[in-house]
Amino acid sequence: MAVIINKEECIGCSACINSCPFGAMVMEADKACTTDACTVCGACVDACPVGAITKEATESSVKIDKDAYKDVWVFIEHVEGEIRNVSHELLGEGRKLADAKGQKLAGVLIGDGVEALAKQVFASGADKVYLIEGSEFKNYSTDGYTAVFTDLINTYKPSVILIGATNDGRDLGPRVACRVGTGLTADCTNLGIDEQTGLVAWTRPAFGGNIMATILCPEHRPQMGTVRPKVFKKPVQDFNRTGEIVRVTSKIKAEDIRTKFIELLQVSAASCNLEEAEVIVSGGRGMCKLENFQLIEELAEVLGGTVGASRAAVDAGWKPALHQVGQTGKTVGPKIYIACGISGAIQHIAGMSSSDIIIAINKDADAPIFKVADYGIVGDVTEVLPVMITEFKKLRQA
Ligand SMILES: Cc1cc2nc3c(=O)[nH]c(=O)nc-3n(C[C@H](O)[C@H](O)[C@H](O)COP(=O)(O)OP(=O)(O)OC[C@H]3O[C@@H](n4cnc5c(N)ncnc54)[C@H](O)[C@@H]3O)c2cc1C
Repeated sequence: MAVIINKEECIGCSACINSCPFGAMVMEADKACTTDACTVCGACVDACPVGAITKEATESSVKIDKDAYKDVWVFIEHVEGEIRNVSHELLGEGRKLADAKGQKLAGVLIGDGVEALAKQVFASGADKVYLIEGSEFKNYSTDGYTAVFTDLINTYKPSVILIGATNDGRDLGPRVACRVGTGLTADCTNLGIDEQTGLVAWTRPAFGGNIMATILCPEHRPQMGTVRPKVFKKPVQDFNRTGEIVRVTSKIKAEDIRTKFIELLQVSAASCNLEEAEVIVSGGRGMCKLENFQLIEELAEVLGGTVGASRAAVDAGWKPALHQVGQTGKTVGPKIYIACGISGAIQHIAGMSSSDIIIAINKDADAPIFKVADYGIVGDVTEVLPVMITEFKKLRQA
């Protein structure tokens, strides 16, 4: 794609030079020219007062028949024969979008010997499963899954695609979006339908989490987005539901996949499975020093929970980044979240506000965390936590 400058029409006014955010426009013999720094963002096209600058039409900028795109799809991620919770969560949310649009909900199931998982997909709300099986799909691969998903979209033309913002989902989503010439809203925290346009309204934090931006995809299809685990609740499954399985034969050959799966290593995830934890005890800067974090560990242990941390605690080196909760950490949704010495910055709240019960301990009665907390304890963590540990230990022994 490129920017095209009609030299005949260019009046050499320099409006494009001033408008270019990348300094990629220059004047040569009183006519505008682009340099290698041009990203084809289009700012110069809008700025030119005589319409002398246009963007080259590409496959993705050619108007598409949007009516040909129907249904809501969810990428079904699975590991070692189990569907990841985030896929169920997205099926629940996808069901709402599909119902609102009067369309069908489908799961895209790619793998080897995974047909049995279709039952689960139907139970979580899908009407249809697109099933692509083959030994080359046993484990996720960037090449294999991107190619097969792209083919599937080009053939069946879905209107909306939801993908979990997991490691694999974040790898797959943008690649597929680029191949099919559409956009993708990453890391959404809410989904809805825009009343005016009927498009999916993708909401996500922007400008460091200081505002929530709602993004629409009006010109291209499918409308695509990734959503973090635990943003939505897993739907109640109904195993009486059934649906249609559409078997799709893949054209991908094993030799087209450049990476080889060698071994699955479970790196300490068991001790820090925050996304699946029912109880999380999190510590922030208010824990004051590394030694005090022992109180967080102890309370988590007594409650059978997992240890979380604010970014300040991670930056202080009290916990590895794996434990960070928040916008740039993990999004969690436990039954109980205990925030100890955490102020409640918007970036932290973004990762834990969907917890069922939030308990906050903070010595500052005006700390913002108390605005989202169901129960608040105003006090010093070094005094409150030992009491809680002792009392819960007693309850456990009783
Ligand atoms: C782009 C971006 C992304 C970010 N992503 C994240 C993220 O993912 N997760 C995250 O957590 N942050 C994130 N942050 C940082 C965030 O803005 C805050 O700086 C951070 O959450 C503050 O951590 P904190 O609450 O532990 O520390 P502070 O804000 O310093 O709060 C400490 C709290 O402890 C209380 N306190 C102090 N001593 C005691 C005591 N003895 N007993 C009881 N209470 C006490 C204080 O009253 C205070 O409320 C991000 C920031 C940016 C700009």
